[in-house]
Amino acid sequence: MILKKYLLAPGPTPVPPEVLLSMAMPVIHHRSADFLPVLDSAKKGLQWIYQTKNDVLILCSTGTGGMVASVNNFFSPGQKVIVINGGKFGERWVKIAQAYGLNVIEIPVEWGYSIDINTVEEELKKHPDIKGVFIQASETSTGAYHDIKTLGQLIKNYDDTLFIVDAISALVAHDIKTDDWAIDVMVSGSQKGFMLPPGLAFVSVSEKAWKRNEKSKTPRFYFNLKKERENLSKNQTNFTSAVSLIIGLNEALKLLQKEGLDQVFRRHSLLAHATREAVKEIGLKIFPKGTPSNAVTAIEAPQGIDGQVIYKTLREKYGVTAAGGQDKLKGKIFRFAHLGYADKFDVIVGISALEMTLKDLGYSIVLGKGVGKAEEIFSKEDTL
Ligand SMILES: *Cc1c(COP(=O)(O)O)cnc(C)c1O
Repeated sequence: MILKKYLLAPGPTPVPPEVLLSMAMPVIHHRSADFLPVLDSAKKGLQWIYQTKNDVLILCSTGTGGMVASVNNFFSPGQKVIVINGGKFGERWVKIAQAYGLNVIEIPVEWGYSIDINTVEEELKKHPDIKGVFIQASETSTGAYHDIKTLGQLIKNYDDTLFIVDAISALVAHDIKTDDWAIDVMVSGSQKGFMLPPGLAFVSVSEKAWKRNEKSKTPRFYFNLKKERENLSKNQTNFTSAVSLIIGLNEALKLLQKEGLDQVFRRHSLLAHATREAVKEIGLKIFPKGTPSNAVTAIEAPQGIDGQVIYKTLREKYGVTAAGGQDKLKGKIFRFAHLGYADKFDVIVGISALEMTLKDLGYSIVLGKGVGKAEEIFSKEDTL
């Protein structure tokens, strides 16, 4: 039997056929008159989804490259920063900041929980020389969402402290108001919510952050955001633009704009909600104890069943690529994403394959219970 493949991982994510076809067009030159309007439209589209008037720079790298650029363009070795670390990606902020010689004050958050804003306020008061606060909006490894809105309102009161958000999995899935929430630097990546293949990182930069950029002494060459800004004002990038991906980006943004901002967020929220309810119906638990993310749902493996075996069975027997747990959560959880070209039937496929997988692995289950729950939720939604 053929095994049709379904991609329900938190990156890379499914890409719509319109976007794939647009990227199959002949390659054009990145400094040519053909390409400049393409980049102009992409930059405006990014400002739309970011809900910002700030520059949103386009880098040819994965999301982590955008994280690196957020560290080495705004800080100097020895400067003190806070990193909120609630999972694998929080840990990545710590490692990048330390690699560039920053003095990291870590606020550990138990995996699966969301940040308690008071702990950040305490640290900010204790250390008047904090130059930046780093966090994830959605911590993809645990499925928890952090309240970056409230955190932004707090940090905004500190004139010399930048607020830096890794929204690589959260953007598009969550309504994030970059300007209203006073986010100075926000990173996202093409292969999560944007419905694109991997290869692009996007970084927004506020005026407060540009002022800091003037003083930052960390060495940089490839990720030089000031140069990217100068180039972007002429609808160019500093080095060769990832022309095909940027053409695809425009196509993907066009689809998102047609759907409308509110509806885009509502879709992700609904898919995540239906997944959580279906999973509970089957008798499993959602892993996050804090606010659950709309980008990815982390689910606890039931007692006596290895989460990695669930993940492998889903993929090998049913063609459904979800994700396992990382690091200390390996074997304990598995994850379904609601990112990219995803709609209600991606949830149905995922839950259906999960029910069959659990039955295969000896878990006591009435087939169709979770799927029925998701269908019930979707059938009440007439416009999705
Ligand atoms: C995927 C992801 C990253 C890493 O992105 P790469 O594109 O693999 O470099 C960083 N942070 C979060 C929250 C992510 O979900």
